[in-house]
Amino acid sequence: MISVGFIGIGNMGSPMVLNLLKAGHAVTVFDVNDAAYSQLMDAGVAVANSALEAAVGVDVVITMLPNDKIVGEMYLGEHGLIAHLDTRPLLIDCSTVSAEIARKVFQVALEKGFAFIDAPVSGGVMGARDGTLSFMVGGEKSVVEDASIILHAMGKRIFHAGQSGAGQIAKMCNNMLAAVLMAGTAEALALGSRNGVDPRALTEIINHSTGRNFMSEKWNPWPGVLSDAPSSHNYQGGFQVALMAKDLGLAMSNAQAHGATIPLGALVRNLLMLHQSQSEGAAKLDLSSIQLLFAPSLKAV
Ligand code: NAD
Repeated sequence: MISVGFIGIGNMGSPMVLNLLKAGHAVTVFDVNDAAYSQLMDAGVAVANSALEAAVGVDVVITMLPNDKIVGEMYLGEHGLIAHLDTRPLLIDCSTVSAEIARKVFQVALEKGFAFIDAPVSGGVMGARDGTLSFMVGGEKSVVEDASIILHAMGKRIFHAGQSGAGQIAKMCNNMLAAVLMAGTAEALALGSRNGVDPRALTEIINHSTGRNFMSEKWNPWPGVLSDAPSSHNYQGGFQVALMAKDLGLAMSNAQAHGATIPLGALVRNLLMLHQSQSEGAAKLDLSSIQLLFAPSLKAV
């Protein structure tokens, strides 16, 4: 049994904690939002009063937090873990943040005698619930090996992408491609529909032709094509538009810093921002709701 301090128990964190418990590990949790604890009622977790309290005396600390600023403060801030922990748990950040903040935390952690890896995930809320997440990990090989037992309790695949920050780079590239595929699929289905072709028939054809992709097959944006996709449930659940806009923002900043060009990623980020400004509440809808931008008449569905 490994003792884990888990900080940030939102949509992803809570089901990840449940899988750690299922694997027999002891988990202490902390979140700034009291409502976040609801999914873990009666689950057998210990609840801490602060992030530091959750991290004291455990073998491993896992953070699953929204963004760079919060992750930076959690590890490096005045009241952060690195400055205040007397013990040296293995530190694992599973949040999706920039490679820069991951490397900064890694460097400071190293100087203070901590091992730190960036381990963002792919697979969404369903993958977190089913314990089938993929981890894309950046850090020292030996540390990644040490972490693997705990990561395997929450996911199926662990990819060592390279040195510190490489996990975040892999995640950023994958999500940018996923966003481009989603926008392209939505555009094609809207054009077909405008010409009187049933999106279900068009999807069937695409899925046996060169346009086939993960979005057309498994995350189809047109309502009613896949009964279990968020598009068939008013775009509820899944992966929020606002989170994908954040990820594409990370890709744009990274490309600018490295002199790279990402015209498609930048275009899709702008489409998502337009989508959010045109449909109230779109920020919290699933990414596939970008379909509404290409086929506004669907709003009535
Ligand atoms: P979420 O907003 O549901 O959860 C984040 C949690 O962190 C919230 O409960 C919030 O109260 C808590 N939090 C914020 N500041 C805190 C602090 N200082 N101390 C303690 N807790 C704090 O978000 P989520 O969907 O669980 O996503 C978490 C991370 O995982 C994000 O970086 C996201 O980009 C990434 N991610 C999400 C998905 C997905 O499908 N939702 C998929 C892959 C990766």
